[in-house]
Amino acid sequence: MNTKTIAVLTSGGDAPGMNAAVRAVVRTAISSGMKVLGVRRGYNGLLHGDFMEMNLRSVSDIIQDGGTTLFTARSPEFTTPEGLQKAVNVCQTFQINGVVVIGGDGSFKGARSLSQAGIPCIGIPGTIDNDIASSDYTIGFDTAMNTAVDMIDRLRDTTESHDRCSVVEVMGRRCGDIAMMTGIAVGATAILVPELPFDFEKDIIERMHFTRKTGKRHFVIIVAEGVGKVAELAQEIEKRTGIETRATVLGHVQRGGRPTLRDRVVGSQMGYYAVQLLNKEKSNRVVVMKNGKIVDYDITEALEMKKQFNKELYDIALTISI
Ligand code: ATP
Repeated sequence: MNTKTIAVLTSGGDAPGMNAAVRAVVRTAISSGMKVLGVRRGYNGLLHGDFMEMNLRSVSDIIQDGGTTLFTARSPEFTTPEGLQKAVNVCQTFQINGVVVIGGDGSFKGARSLSQAGIPCIGIPGTIDNDIASSDYTIGFDTAMNTAVDMIDRLRDTTESHDRCSVVEVMGRRCGDIAMMTGIAVGATAILVPELPFDFEKDIIERMHFTRKTGKRHFVIIVAEGVGKVAELAQEIEKRTGIETRATVLGHVQRGGRPTLRDRVVGSQMGYYAVQLLNKEKSNRVVVMKNGKIVDYDITEALEMKKQFNKELYDIALTISI
């Protein structure tokens, strides 16, 4: 009989598919004979012992829900030595000998601190931006892209009817993956990402002029959040081209909604895998997707990896969006 007690928490920004991962963690752990505590509001809940004991039915009817039923938070207190010690004490009091942390790189740093302090932790990448270098895929990315595409399609209808230009900001502070992928999917005339510098004349105005000469009358420009200033950009474009130009910030709506099949399946796979690692007495590991397979890395090694921007795909986008 497995006598482990594990805790599961979601931390940082919420992402559709986190619930699928929580569900998989809970059910896999209970099937292995473990006791599972659901932690409310990330590391905040861990510090304050805000737990609920989970059973197989606690995670019924959540796989299709966006957000996270465990709630999430950012906890500055946890990053202090006192906060960390408080969390360790709480884990010891509740006899927690494993924690699954679903979140982004910041949350993994927290998991590393906790592992180093003697509480075994496993991280699962859950963040819509796909900005975790160690993993080809993060839970929530597919849903966010599909939401963005759906909204840009709607915007395009009105942009087209009025012969306008729409400058659309999508999420992605450090990572342009949402921008690039949605840009391809909606046929954007230009895509601006934080990984590449841009030249206003060459990358926007010249591309608009070229396509206009071939008969194009409406334009969609996708800008990742990290590039910023979509309102100013729209004004500049209107001034230079004479085409009525509007800026739209899609914002937090991209975070919500029912998770897509991909996010439900990857969330389920990663949740299952994380519990297997705890079963094998592993600690300080992060579960990732590499070349279509679920594997695990040491958290420190994972945090040191540098994300490669897919320039090849970006060049394809530019070649065909003319
Ligand atoms: P997202 O990608 O959605 O922003 P994230 O996990 O990177 O998710 P952060 O706000 O960076 O989000 O981190 C979440 C929480 O993890 C923080 O509020 C904090 O409690 C903890 N954390 C972040 N960085 C560290 C660190 N260096 N050491 C210990 N804990 C950390």
